[in-house]
Amino acid sequence: MSSQLESLEQIKTDILTQNICPNLAKTATQLVMGDGNPNADIVFIGEAPGKNEDLQGLPFIGAAGKFLNEMLSTVNLERKDIFITNIVKYRPPENRDPTHEEKKAFWPFLARQLEIIEPKVIVTLGRHAMEFFLPDAKISQVHGQPKRLKVKLHDGRETSWVILPLYHPAAALYNGGMRQTLIDDFAQVRAIVTKA
Ligand code: URA
Repeated sequence: MSSQLESLEQIKTDILTQNICPNLAKTATQLVMGDGNPNADIVFIGEAPGKNEDLQGLPFIGAAGKFLNEMLSTVNLERKDIFITNIVKYRPPENRDPTHEEKKAFWPFLARQLEIIEPKVIVTLGRHAMEFFLPDAKISQVHGQPKRLKVKLHDGRETSWVILPLYHPAAALYNGGMRQTLIDDFAQVRAIVTKA
């Protein structure tokens, strides 16, 4: 196993040993840590696993995932080219929205994933994933606009991340206007990575 994969595995072990969100852990089948290329230039971040994701242990494999795959193919990308994960790594019961506390509990582990992968661009899908990167932003106002953020890593080093906030594919799937907006925003992904 590459050292990157080992470090990513260690995050999973730490979530389990630290008993993060024990109530979610009780109702979920398993942790869904993420999938794809640990050397990817782009990391996509969703909200939380749904039913299929919970059962199979992989992110974005249901209807929203299919739509995401279609959009990736329009910019000549495949799932193996990117890394994809969620802010919350356990399925909330009945697919309810994750709470602020749940997102806060998982945030340090997401930040560690990003430190290991070191992507050029971080694409947040929906407002839950956007919240910790752009806390004052409204998705309806900032979607599709890349923003460079200064961040302090947990070892004290400073770096910057380019965040591209997009609508969530599950929200856009059955909403014609939002769907087209998401497709249009998505079309810029490659250009933003090149520029980053
Ligand atoms: N929606 C998400 O936000 N994440 C998934 O993994 C699946 C659906």
